[in-house]
Amino acid sequence: MSNRTLAIIKPDAVGKGYTGKIIDRILSAGFNVLGAKLVHLSREKAEGFYAVHTERPFFNDLVDFMTSGPCMPLVVEHDGAVNAFRTLIGSTNPAEADEGTIRKDFAESIQNNAVHGSDSNENAEKEIAFFFTSEEIHPN
Ligand code: ADP
Ligand code: MG
Repeated sequence: MSNRTLAIIKPDAVGKGYTGKIIDRILSAGFNVLGAKLVHLSREKAEGFYAVHTERPFFNDLVDFMTSGPCMPLVVEHDGAVNAFRTLIGSTNPAEADEGTIRKDFAESIQNNAVHGSDSNENAEKEIAFFFTSEEIHPN
């Protein structure tokens, strides 16, 4: 079982000044942060990150959103990190997210939903490598 996943604090949440509050939620839930950076994604990079969604009707709007300002990718560690992190963030649509989840408390819409979390161990490792070199990831 992998213990790492990729999180992104998305441009809506960074822009509203929620970065510190969201990192506090992540740490309070028992995750370790092994890597972090603030990046303003190019269109090419955002399209590459969300390539699996190319055919979805919301794809162009999603790329507009993800390139609208800086975001903060994080490498986070926890037992069963992928599932633990997705539980912490809640449903994609904040209107359906459980009480106490990050999306319930900080997201504004199904698109501008404050945070990303990888959906499988395989994708977590790919997504971590998409943003971080090994020198940028620090064992806790
Ligand atoms: P998740 O981020 O929960 O894994 P998906 O992988 O299905 O969700 O979608 C990726 C991202 O695309 C979402 O986090 C959200 O920002 C956006 N998105 C998903 N579904 C919609 C939708 N129906 N309308 C607009 N944006 C969407
Ligand atoms: Mg997803």
